[in-house]
Amino acid sequence: MRTALAMKTSDSAAISREGRVPAVSRSPSYIAVEAVSKAYGSRHGAVKALENIDLQVREGEFLSILGPSGCGKSTLLKCIGGLERITAGSLRVRGEALSGPPTKTGMVFQRDVLLDWRTILDNVLITAEFLGLRREDLKPRALQLLTRFGLSGYENRHPWELSGGMRQRASICRALLCDPELLLMDEPFGALDAMTRDDLNLELARIWQDTGKTVVFVTHGISEAIFLSDRVVMMDRNPGRIVEVLEIDLPRPRSLAMRETPEFGRYVAHVRHLFAGLGILKEG
Ligand code: ADP
Ligand code: MG
Repeated sequence: MRTALAMKTSDSAAISREGRVPAVSRSPSYIAVEAVSKAYGSRHGAVKALENIDLQVREGEFLSILGPSGCGKSTLLKCIGGLERITAGSLRVRGEALSGPPTKTGMVFQRDVLLDWRTILDNVLITAEFLGLRREDLKPRALQLLTRFGLSGYENRHPWELSGGMRQRASICRALLCDPELLLMDEPFGALDAMTRDDLNLELARIWQDTGKTVVFVTHGISEAIFLSDRVVMMDRNPGRIVEVLEIDLPRPRSLAMRETPEFGRYVAHVRHLFAGLGILKEG
């Protein structure tokens, strides 16, 4: 079926991004996840969240992790972000085993974690404080990012004065402040309305295209994953495991209108069919 759809599920194909050296030639595995398992201890015994995960993320690629609620997407992302320890296997970022959050990494979570008592600008500048950098040096960049994300004029407001979409934009600005190489995003647009989500999908795609960052993006939105990604990792639950890695061979830059094309539709159908086979979605 995959061949008929001209889909690739290999790990080795180069990323085609206009005007860029294929990332794969620089570093084939920017993130190397090998035989990783993760169990949580709980009052009811161990919960196996991930089992035997193998995944190589290439430098500069946009990779989505797609799967139903509870399949371990957040756990996998937290392990990559050094926020959870793995129970077995090995996990390296830029060739180094993790002993905490990797450097040059920005994170965005589903619920924005803005501090209510700080202004939007001060929330964005927190990243500088964490890294021991001077706020004043990063203020121009913070303001530039806020403008790019449509928050110009809101720098001195507080989070509770902003809509959910605006708060999430501010969270993204915060993650981008120190120009991280790696961006880890856990359902960042999951709580937003469809139109705001479309807007932010486009903005994120532009930023990725312009900056060459490596992005690992967790979602349960099929269309969102296909639209944004070079590859989509599909997971099943109980315990969380990878069932397929799908190469998205659609040209870039991508427009929202592309979601109406037959090629895009075939990717959606393929993913739906796979999840239907696992009993996660109904076919039809
Ligand atoms: P997803 O992000 O795909 O919804 P999670 O990674 O949050 O999935 O969770 C995967 C599994 O691990 C679920 O069964 C969840 O209940 C369990 N889990 C997640 N975090 C914890 C925790 N801190 N303690 C115990 N169990 C957890
Ligand atoms: Mg989650």
